[in-house]
Amino acid sequence: MARINDDYRKLQAGYLFPEIGKRTREFQAANPAAELIRLGIGDITLPLVPAVVEALREAASEMGRDDGVHGYGDEQGYAFLREAICEHDYAARGVAIAPEDVFVSDGSKQDSGNIQEIFGRACRVVVTDPSYPVYVDTNVMAGRSGEATPSGHYEGIDYLAATAENGFCPGPPEHAADLAYLCSPNNPTGAVASRENLEAWVAWARASDAILIFDAAYDAFIQDDALPHSIYEIEGAKECAIEMRSFSKRAGFTGVRCAYTVGPGGLVGTDAAGVAVSIRDLWSRRHATKFNGTPYVIQRAAAAVFGEAGKQQTAEQVAYYMQNARRIREALGAAGFDVFGGEHAPYIWMRTPEGLSSWDFFDQLLAKTSVIGTPGSGFGPAGEGYFRLSAFNSHANVDLAIERIRGSFAA
Ligand SMILES: *Cc1c(COP(=O)(O)O)cnc(C)c1O
Repeated sequence: MARINDDYRKLQAGYLFPEIGKRTREFQAANPAAELIRLGIGDITLPLVPAVVEALREAASEMGRDDGVHGYGDEQGYAFLREAICEHDYAARGVAIAPEDVFVSDGSKQDSGNIQEIFGRACRVVVTDPSYPVYVDTNVMAGRSGEATPSGHYEGIDYLAATAENGFCPGPPEHAADLAYLCSPNNPTGAVASRENLEAWVAWARASDAILIFDAAYDAFIQDDALPHSIYEIEGAKECAIEMRSFSKRAGFTGVRCAYTVGPGGLVGTDAAGVAVSIRDLWSRRHATKFNGTPYVIQRAAAAVFGEAGKQQTAEQVAYYMQNARRIREALGAAGFDVFGGEHAPYIWMRTPEGLSSWDFFDQLLAKTSVIGTPGSGFGPAGEGYFRLSAFNSHANVDLAIERIRGSFAA
């Protein structure tokens, strides 16, 4: 019999979204007339913008011509896309990133889950609590934790509570560690890290020889230009940080699939003998061994996001979602609910009303309003007593959801 990876058995039952799906289906089956409003899973609802559709069509036609054959491309991504990323996502904000440090992929979920693989099993991992579940679960699968404790934490992983007191952006720990996952603007809390907060993290990482894994999947939702969009806007970060970005939320690519990871040439880890090893080279080795490149048509579509029309059209979509975020935040706040986030991220993080647990509120919200949200406890124990509402929906549905929530719960 093939022996399985026992570390997988440490994972706690039911990934969050399947459980939400199950409860929702059961509710719908019992209440076929109920009109559900989905503010749960963080998935886009608007169609692809015209500039992206056009690029997809053109690239597909091109590949159907004798002179347009594209087989395996560079595993790291086509130069046209990596150069556009460096120009528009970095140089435009005063950050110099070289195209050879950019690795195009088919998703940040994969990248943020796979990155741990190039690090030693003994690495001490720091996460904020709550956080995107991928960071913790992939480290558990890789054997970097002990068992789950009754509190919902895994032994051997360091959790920093994101609380109302620290603005949901905890600073670095008092002790040293090896890897720290940061996400700003944050999923699930909707908080955005200040420059000072990121400076503290970079200083800590440099002092303790740690590497920051910075997930900037939501950078396009930042409304204040003075806030950092990239960890590399912080001095010294190129020597201590890996950054990930995705086209999923900024350009509606959740069903198209394109993202990238930046591993600056100057970033190093150490081997068993204490010799410095380039992180970029290790990631390159992994990428080339396990990945055969993002499809040509998809990379053309991603490049179209950086064209004049693509930029404008995707910015309009982001603005549309951010209007929803503002409506939810302001309306529920005015009604007396305790709401956070939603200013630079498409998520509103609310304290559950009436002292309900996260899952009890989920069930009651569904039963009373047919609105689906996400229980905060699904993102980590410190999320208990909180609830995430997503801004990915139509204005009409968002207004309806607000109305129903206000009418059904005492703030
Ligand atoms: C949505 C999301 C991503 C993007 O994932 P893709 O695989 O690129 O679709 C990455 N990180 C966080 C925190 C997210 O919420």
